[in-house]
Amino acid sequence: MQKVFDFIVVGGGSAGCVLASRLTENNAVNVLLIEAGSDDKSVAIHMPVGSAAMVPSNYKNWAYQTTPQKGLNGRRGYQPRGKVLGGSSSINAMIYIRGHKDDYDDWQELGWGWDDVLPYFKKSETNAVFHDELHGVQGPLKVDNSRSNHPVADAFIKAGRALGYKYCHDFNGIDQEGVGRYQVTQVNGQRCSAAKAYLTPIRSRKNLTILTNTSVTKLLINDKKCQGVEIKHQGELINITATNEVLLAAGAFTSPQLLLLSGIGANEDLEPFGIKQALELPGVGENLSDHLDYISAYQANTHKIFGLSLKGCVFFSKELVKYAVKRQGIFSSNFAETGGFLKTDPKIARPDIQYHFVIAVVKDHARNWQAALKHGYSAHTCVLRPKSRGTVKLSSANAFDAPLIDPNFLGEDEDVQTLLKGVRMASEILEHPEMSCFKKSSIDKEYQLSDEALIAQIRENSDSIYHPVGTCKMGVDDMAVVDASLKVHGIKGLRVVDASIFPNLIGGNTNAPTMMVAERAADFIKQEWQLT
Ligand SMILES: Cc1cc2nc3c(=O)[nH]c(=O)nc-3n(C[C@H](O)[C@H](O)[C@H](O)COP(=O)(O)OP(=O)(O)OC[C@H]3O[C@@H](n4cnc5c(N)ncnc54)[C@H](O)[C@@H]3O)c2cc1C
Repeated sequence: MQKVFDFIVVGGGSAGCVLASRLTENNAVNVLLIEAGSDDKSVAIHMPVGSAAMVPSNYKNWAYQTTPQKGLNGRRGYQPRGKVLGGSSSINAMIYIRGHKDDYDDWQELGWGWDDVLPYFKKSETNAVFHDELHGVQGPLKVDNSRSNHPVADAFIKAGRALGYKYCHDFNGIDQEGVGRYQVTQVNGQRCSAAKAYLTPIRSRKNLTILTNTSVTKLLINDKKCQGVEIKHQGELINITATNEVLLAAGAFTSPQLLLLSGIGANEDLEPFGIKQALELPGVGENLSDHLDYISAYQANTHKIFGLSLKGCVFFSKELVKYAVKRQGIFSSNFAETGGFLKTDPKIARPDIQYHFVIAVVKDHARNWQAALKHGYSAHTCVLRPKSRGTVKLSSANAFDAPLIDPNFLGEDEDVQTLLKGVRMASEILEHPEMSCFKKSSIDKEYQLSDEALIAQIRENSDSIYHPVGTCKMGVDDMAVVDASLKVHGIKGLRVVDASIFPNLIGGNTNAPTMMVAERAADFIKQEWQLT
């Protein structure tokens, strides 16, 4: 096995695939991409509805648990993360969202304002529908309208409009506010993960080596320089050297874990595990922020929607044939076909609530099978910029033990109040007559509950909608882990390039923003090493 490379990319997820692809555009550069999970050859990945098999199980999924959450009545949350080439983009819901323009202008001081990042969103994207100054037409990531247009998902839009909310024809356009249809990262009715977009077309490059089923166990730090990584490959521990840089792209949970395992972090986080400190960097694993999701679920009066029944089997058999022949219909659905970005207070500048309208009854991440068997639909409400912050810390010095993930959900009362208002607004939409032709009954009858009872219900049932960020945040303050070019403060030859570098959560889903971060990082690296 070759043991020296110019660059080592740790983690073949949304960010890692972009880095590996962009850096190997220069054939003088040798890149090693290391992925703990498997290759991405599975129908569950490529057929959009396959996420229903992956998200609730440990198939291609790290399936982490959080620590008991005080704000959620002591329950442990669930945190699925992709463990496969493509990372979480191989198991996610494929919604293509960039966030609000002003979210990036909040990062302006770091040189990551909207005008700085827009070219990289466009560089990554080929949009099959929108061809304007805000969208890309030549990027590897294919974005399209969904090929499943379920009428109940449209009823959600109609009900929202009847209540006076704007219609948004492009959530990534000039104005994000309103209700509308999500665009999806799909091509020809199949998932377009980061691996499919960035790796599949260039797998034969001679200067790219991909090791799957191989875990990085620590970074090799000597005299404040990262010299490579230790990997576990086919049962053996092996050291691999990076002559230029190691690029840590293991995601918002594992990137801080690997830094801590390598002695980079606060001494008090390392000492209990006997880890020798290489650098005091107190922000590692701090500042965890995630979108908390409350689900208002309804039973439908039709079997032509996800659920299980005899009549439903006939419908789904026909739909399967339709998908096999035309790559259309309910099997191409990403489940969350429509939704919206709304304000709980008209005076605020940006929408503070996002809705995912899902054409299935989803309870406990689809792990509650009794609920999933019912034909129905659900509206997911999340607070876009939560104030609560949590942590990711070590549970042991063993790289194969999951880290302690504490999102501190509903740690701040403001988040409780905003979510309460958002769930009330969801109930108004779901109870509107425009929904009545599909409605059998509300499962939890949120609209009948007092504020106190609804808050209790929120604490008992909410959990992540899978957007953890911020645990190796970019910045210049004492708690920042990386600088504006994503280099780890105080360590040479090491950058973090993934969702963990976000200083705070953006107002939307996090896959496209993470890929934008990696596109820009690739340009920084090429400039620094004169690779263009
Ligand atoms: C179920 C689900 C649904 C989602 N839905 C959407 C959506 O619809 N739209 C959207 O925009 N976002 C969505 N997201 C979020 C989005 O997918 C993530 O924010 C994004 O993929 C994060 O990218 P990343 O590169 O930071 O991490 P990841 O993509 O998770 O990549 C990290 C990679 O590192 C690997 N790795 C970890 N540890 C090691 C190690 N020690 N050695 C080697 N490799 C390692 C992992 O296996 C993984 O492949 C969803 C996420 C999930 C989990």
